[in-house]
Amino acid sequence: MPQQSTVLSIKKASNLKSDDIFRRLVDSAGDYAIFVLNSEGHIQSWNLGSERMNGFSPEDIIGKHFSIFYTPGDRAVELPAQQLGRAAEEGNFEDIGWRVRKDGSRFWASALLSRIEDGNGNLLGFGCITRDLTERRLSELRYRLLVEGVIDYAIFSLDSKGYVTSWNLGAERIKGYKPEEIIGKHFSTFYTDEDRVAGLPETVLRTAASDGHFTGEGWRVRKDGSRFWSNVVVTALRDDEGNLYGFSKVTRDMSERKQLLDALEQHSRELELRVREREESNAELEAFAYSVSHDLRAPLRAIAGFAEALREDCSASLDDRGRDYLNEITSAASRMNALVKDLLDYGRVSRIDMPLQSVKLVDAVTNAINQSKDDRRGSLTVNIPSELFVQSHPRVLPQVILNLLTNAFKFHLPSSTPEVHVFAEKTDDHVRLTVRDNGIGIAPQHQERIWQVFERLHEREAYPGSGIGLAIVKRAVTRMNGRYGLESAPGAGSTFWIELAESLAPDKGNHD
Ligand code: ADP
Repeated sequence: MPQQSTVLSIKKASNLKSDDIFRRLVDSAGDYAIFVLNSEGHIQSWNLGSERMNGFSPEDIIGKHFSIFYTPGDRAVELPAQQLGRAAEEGNFEDIGWRVRKDGSRFWASALLSRIEDGNGNLLGFGCITRDLTERRLSELRYRLLVEGVIDYAIFSLDSKGYVTSWNLGAERIKGYKPEEIIGKHFSTFYTDEDRVAGLPETVLRTAASDGHFTGEGWRVRKDGSRFWSNVVVTALRDDEGNLYGFSKVTRDMSERKQLLDALEQHSRELELRVREREESNAELEAFAYSVSHDLRAPLRAIAGFAEALREDCSASLDDRGRDYLNEITSAASRMNALVKDLLDYGRVSRIDMPLQSVKLVDAVTNAINQSKDDRRGSLTVNIPSELFVQSHPRVLPQVILNLLTNAFKFHLPSSTPEVHVFAEKTDDHVRLTVRDNGIGIAPQHQERIWQVFERLHEREAYPGSGIGLAIVKRAVTRMNGRYGLESAPGAGSTFWIELAESLAPDKGNHD
């Protein structure tokens, strides 16, 4: 219970009685009952604050004994006389307790009795200052009820040195101590040995004292020695003059949340590991495919070469069946050659260093068109503004465009004539290159998977191919920091596009 800090020392009461200024001061102190008793305890003066607090007018009360303000219980044990005796002996006596108003209602009061003496030290009477603390007591009660009832938080207080002075139900539940077991003990009991050795409890109090509060999370120890993960807020408590008199501490058991977080972290670590392993094994597979493809080239060339030699030199000694077999060998070797070439291209696009430079788009498109000339039928219109340059790789970009062009001319019904448009336009700081065809189109549900290696939507007999072309486009464009996509519908043609950063200042002489 906080102490009443107002102390009035009254000397030379006989002078004061005639002191008008003092009387006015006393009268105006409306929140305090200030009155004077004679040496037996009979009331001699009565200020406005007294009237307001106790309900008696001066006429009602002057001359009455001050024990009238005490409860019957206190009067029965002669508390008023005892307190007067203590004030007479010690000079001052301070009490906090119930007092009674004129209407019989009670109020919680802080009362200070001060001995008044004449110049020779003879007792003249007592000055009495009373303050109504009912509101404060009620709010303290409410606070205590609230705090004591809370069970999800340990709420307790410490004195300025860190010794426990109060303990709520939550603290009991979370930490396992009963109030009588812990009150008076130092709060460092709740810390782990490591934290105690590291001086954490002292740091916490020092920080709270200097900054007003301390917030943190960490391991704390229960009475049974088990640990729990806690969230802690420590607040410094200071009186009106700013003197530190203790700390309040709110601790929350976060063990469950911590476990969840730990599990989540562990899970994401495992996931990351698996992704990395997968990436690594993908990279290994790609490397393996690349080297196998590479090694396959020589025997493939040998097969194709010997088949050719057989046809040229021994054709006469072969019958029709023999020649058919020979044709099968040649076409299988050529399919395999195409596959090996695509695999090598894919490996190369994935593995080579890809320093980007400014590439004139129309040059890259022309390069691709020239490469595709041999195997295409139908019409091609091209509209690439010559001033467009893109950040890309000068050898890889034509290959990307070639793959899109090849598909645009390939995926048509035999009855239709391919019409392919290639055009480019600026989009903000990017350039979008579009290859549009009037072919068979692609159903929406397949539009995502066709970018993966070996994903094809058709039998090889209908449309030859390795299923690697778009995977190369995807990998290359991604490595050139670009984007790719398509719009298509079955029977309505396809529009494939790539976007690359526009480069305004081409590096001259670098377009090989
Ligand atoms: P490939 O052309 O060798 O089969 P791609 O990776 O280039 O392999 O293409 C994958 C699949 O996407 C093709 O097999 C085809 O089913 C579909 N596709 C690609 N381009 C087009 C297009 N322009 N029109 C229709 N389907 C296409």
